[in-house]
Amino acid sequence: MLQKILIANRGEIALRVLRACKELGIQTVVVHSTADADAMHVRLADEAVCIGPPPSRDSYLNIHQIVAACEITGADAVHPGYGFLSENAKFSDILAAHNITFIGPSGDHIRMMGDKIEAKRTAKRLGIPVVPGSDGAVSDEGEARRIAADIGYPVIIKASAGGGGRGMKVAHSEADLEVALATARSEAGAAFGDDAVYIEKYLEKPRHIELQVFGDGAGNGVHFGERDCSLQRRHQKVWEEALSPALNDASREHIGTICANAVAELGYSGAGTIEFLYENGEFYFIEMNTRLQVEHPITEAITGIDLVHEQIRVASGSGLSVRQSDIRFQGHAIECRINAEDARTFVPSPGTITHFHTPGGLGIRVDSGVYSGYRIPPYYDSLIGKLIVHGRNRVECMMRLRRALDEFVVDGINTTLPLFRDLVGNHDIADGNYDIHWLEKYLAKAS
Ligand code: ADP
Repeated sequence: MLQKILIANRGEIALRVLRACKELGIQTVVVHSTADADAMHVRLADEAVCIGPPPSRDSYLNIHQIVAACEITGADAVHPGYGFLSENAKFSDILAAHNITFIGPSGDHIRMMGDKIEAKRTAKRLGIPVVPGSDGAVSDEGEARRIAADIGYPVIIKASAGGGGRGMKVAHSEADLEVALATARSEAGAAFGDDAVYIEKYLEKPRHIELQVFGDGAGNGVHFGERDCSLQRRHQKVWEEALSPALNDASREHIGTICANAVAELGYSGAGTIEFLYENGEFYFIEMNTRLQVEHPITEAITGIDLVHEQIRVASGSGLSVRQSDIRFQGHAIECRINAEDARTFVPSPGTITHFHTPGGLGIRVDSGVYSGYRIPPYYDSLIGKLIVHGRNRVECMMRLRRALDEFVVDGINTTLPLFRDLVGNHDIADGNYDIHWLEKYLAKAS
C-alpha cells in the first residue's frame, strides 16, 4: 500500500480524497495556494505545503512546486482529483520519472484520450459506437462541405483538444458552415493552443449517458453502470442521476460490456468515464475522461463501492476489490451541483458564507469543503458543494431530495439551490423525461 499521498487539488474533491486516505490509514499531504490557507482540507491534512499565489497557473497547475512538495514531505503518490492537472500527461510522466505514483492512468492513455480525434479513432477500433463524422482533423472548407453533405446537416464542429464545452459550433446548413469552422478553429486555438477541429453529426435530442469504468492495468476491466448527465447548461452538467431513467437492463448490459472490454483491451489503469450521447436507442461515443468525475458519488451510492479506495488500490498494485459479478445496482441516486452563482443568471457570487447548514438523514450525503464564516475566493470555479441523495427507487429518491433541499441553508451568497427546488417539482423531471437541451429551454422560458 501507498504510505503518504499528496492531494494536488482544492475544494470538496480535496476533502473527498483526504477522507478516503484517512479510512485507509494513509498519511496525507495537501498543497494549497495562499488563497486557500483556511480551507477545510488544509486544516484536516497531516501536512500542508503552500505552493504559491492564488492564480492556478502559479499554484495548482505548477508542476515543479508540486513535485518539490512531494520530495520535501516524502509523499510516494499524488492524487490529482478532477480538473487542474488530473488529465495532464506531462504531469503523469514527470511524476513517474521521480518515482512518485500518479493515481490515475499512464501518460500515454491520458494523451490518447485527451486528443479527441485520437480518442474517437481508438474507440472505433475497440468496437465502441461513435458519432458519425470526419475521420480526423478537417482544415479546409471544401473538405468540411463534402463531409457535412455526406453525414447530413446539422453538424457540429468540435475542437480536438476541447474540454469544458468550449470550441464547439453547430452548423444547421451549408450557409453556416464557413463561419462555424472559422470560429471553432479560432476559439480552439485561443483556448487550447491547438486549432485542430473535427466534424460530427449534431444529434438533436440526445441524452448524455456516461459509463463509469475501471481498469486494473493488468488487462482486467469492469463497469459500474451509467450516469445520466443530460441536465446541462452551456454543456456543463448541473444535475446527474444513476442509473439513467432512459435505459433498461439489456441496454445497460450491452453498452457496459463493450466499455469494460475496451478498458481491458487497452490495459487501462484506474478510473475512467466513457461518455456517450444516446438517441433513439443508440449510443454514440463522444469522449473518454481519464480521471474521477465530479458526479462519481451517485455511482458510489448505487453500488456501495468507494471509488477513491479503488483508485488507490489500483495505483498501489493491489488490483480492484471487485469483479464485474460483484457489482450490483441498488436503488436510485441524484446529485445536485451547488454553485456559488445566481440561480437564474448564473453570475458567480463569491464572498463570505455567513451561515451554512447541511441536510441530513437517511440517504443524504453532502460533499463540501465550506463552512459558516468561510470566505469563497474569487479565483477558482464556483462549485461549493454537492448534494447526493439515494433512495430505494427514483420516487423515494426525489421525495428525499425535495426534503433535503428544503433543509439546506447557505446564507451570505447566492447559490443554485433555488434552481434545484424548482426542478424537483417539475413534471418532466419527475417523469425522467428530458434531453440535453431541456434545461436551457426551461431556463429561457422562466426568464
Ligand atoms: P467537452 O469535453 O468540452 O465537455 P464533449 O464532447 O464531452 O465536450 O461534449 C459536451 C456536451 O456537448 C455534450 O454533453 C453534449 O451536450 C454536447 N455535444 C457534444 N457533441 C455533440 C453532438 N455530436 N451532437 C449534439 N450535442 C453534442
